[in-house]
Amino acid sequence: MKGADDKPRNIVLCKDCLEVLESKHRHDFVQCSCENQTYTDGGIDYQRIGGKDLSRIEIIESPRQRK
Ligand SMILES: [Zn+2]
Repeated sequence: MKGADDKPRNIVLCKDCLEVLESKHRHDFVQCSCENQTYTDGGIDYQRIGGKDLSRIEIIESPRQRK
């Protein structure tokens, strides 16, 4: 089922602190506050994620998933 709002979004979850991070603009760099330093950047133009341990990061939504 597709929702009415299918705009691309850039959201990741840090599995260590369970913080949800959403980058809303191209230069909106958002980072969680735990030791893994999970971050996402790029807004809806691209998704650049990082952190000390990438396996501790779950991508909730990626703008590239758009169909
Ligand atoms: Zn974290």
